[in-house]
Parts: sequence; structure tokens; C-alpha cells
Amino acid sequence: MNPVLAVGSVAFDSIKTPFGEVSRVVGGSATYFSLAASFFTQVRLVAVVGEDFGDTARKVFGGRRIDLAGLQQLPGETFRWKGEYGFDLNTRETVYTHLNVFEKFQPAIPAAYRGSPYVFLGNIHPRLQLDVLDQIEQPRMVAADTMNYWIERTPDELRQVMKRIDILIINDSEARELSGHANLVKAAAAIQRMGPRTLVIKRGEHGVMMTRAEAGDFFAAPAMPLEDVRDPTGAGDTFAGGFVGYLAFSGNTDDATMARAIVYGTVLASFAVEDFSLNRLLRLSEEELRARFRQFKALTHFDEA
Ligand code: AMP
Repeated sequence: MNPVLAVGSVAFDSIKTPFGEVSRVVGGSATYFSLAASFFTQVRLVAVVGEDFGDTARKVFGGRRIDLAGLQQLPGETFRWKGEYGFDLNTRETVYTHLNVFEKFQPAIPAAYRGSPYVFLGNIHPRLQLDVLDQIEQPRMVAADTMNYWIERTPDELRQVMKRIDILIINDSEARELSGHANLVKAAAAIQRMGPRTLVIKRGEHGVMMTRAEAGDFFAAPAMPLEDVRDPTGAGDTFAGGFVGYLAFSGNTDDATMARAIVYGTVLASFAVEDFSLNRLLRLSEEELRARFRQFKALTHFDEA
């Protein structure tokens, strides 16, 4: 099995949606990613928490294929984020971001992780993403995420990251901002010229599209139609975890494998949004995951006349 090294945030989140409110629950980009990817393969989590995290990590990640040797605990408080969603769940306002121990975070990759074949660089400062890559020996595949914040504030460092990754996973507004093109087909081509051969654009409730330089075409998947969506937090990170986790598990990059990885990411994200925080992912069984994967096949299948 090919392990995945994942670096990103582990957080305490407070979240308000039209369906409820929770405070100081476990979140963070690397948390959602790791839980999702662990359905397929071994995850090596590299992140930082504060003293206030206590033994939360053991409770959340325990009993799963998630190795915590790279999870640092530093004096101070854990990263905290609060978000509030609008009526249709498509708009979100960040109420606050307290970096706390994240400000002093220096990713130190344990020696045993340096040969990790698959790497996911979560949404953190591009400088830190580069630091991680400098510590890894010849990975087979590197995927990364970023956000508007870094596109605007650290464009030069982000350009360096782009040259060293195989897959970029971002949302549509980020793709437009990064490329300067409003049209997503043009945006995708421009981004591929910056480095990543494969680009995955997440479009929230409109699904996801992928383009590969080798194939020169697009693969698209809708989002799963769901009756109960309570908290979209972490959907993108969960998608990335399912996608990269499945690629690592299969060890292939052919078209069929890439497409299945997109669908597994989509299906895992559809579970994540059904309840607040990590709740739905934590009680998700492999049988439920497989059943919804089959349902998704029926949803998107059609025959020529
Ligand atoms: P998403 O809904 O995909 O944007 O992911 C939300 C998760 O990302 C939450 O659990 C937050 O704790 C975390 N998060 C929010 N802002 C940041 C940031 N600036 N850096 C790292 N993680 C963040």
C-alpha cells in the first residue's frame, strides 16, 4: 500500500449554518483530508496543535490508518477558525482566524516519512509547502491545494510551488484568480502552463472538473444530490482526501483510475456535509461508502440510443 503524507491545519472550528451552530469542534484541512484518505490507505499526518488539544487527536484519529508521529504539540493554543454560512450554504463568511501555534509551525518531516511516495500539501503558506517538498525524496505524486489568501499575498512563492507539483486541487474562484481568466477552460490551460499537469477544479454544489495535460480533455462529475446538507465545512478537503487516497491505493494514473478517484472524492465529500464537523465521516462505514459509490454510477450513467 502506498502511504500518503498530508500536511495542513488541525483546528478547533466554530461553525454556524442555517441548521445549527457548534463551537470548538475539531476541524482543519489536514483533519478532513486524513480521515477521508484513511478509507483507502495509510496516512502520515504532519501538522501542529496546541496544549489545549489534549488527547483529542487520539480520540479522533485513533483506530484508523492515520500515523501521528508528525503531529507536533507546541505550547500555546490550537489554530481556531469560525465560519458562518448564508441561507443557501454557498456563501460563507470567516468570522475569525486565530493562527495561534500555526504561526510558529515549522513542518519537520520524520525521517521515516521522507520516502513517502504520495504527498498532499494542504492549504498553508506556500513557503511551508516548499519546506515540506525539500524534505521529501523523489515523491511519485505531489498534489496541492491553495486559496485566494496566498494567491494574493505570496504569488512568487506560490509560483515556485506550482512548478513542483503534479496535481493542483482548487475551487473555481481560485482558478479564476490564479489564472486571470474568467472562463474555466482557459483558466485550466493557463494554470497547467504554470506547472501542474493535472488540474482539479472544485465547484461546490456544481461538482468537480478535472483536466490532464496528457489527455487534453475534461472529466466532470456532478455533486451528489442530497436532501440533508447541514455543514459544508471541509467538503473540499474531504474531496481531496478521497481523491488522493484512492490514487495512492491504486498506484495508477490511467484515465479510468483518475475518474474513479474523482468519484470517490465526491462521494466522501457528500457524506462530510451531512452533519457538522467530522461527525458523519467518523461514523461512516465502508459499506455505506461503497453503496453510495454505486448509486453515483447509476446517477451519471446513460446509454447511447
Ligand atoms: P474548507 O471548508 O474546505 O474551506 O475547509 C475548512 C477547514 O479549513 C476548517 O476546518 C478550518 O479549520 C480550516 N481553515 C480555515 N481557514 C484556514 C487557513 N487560513 N489555513 C488553514 N486552515 C484553514
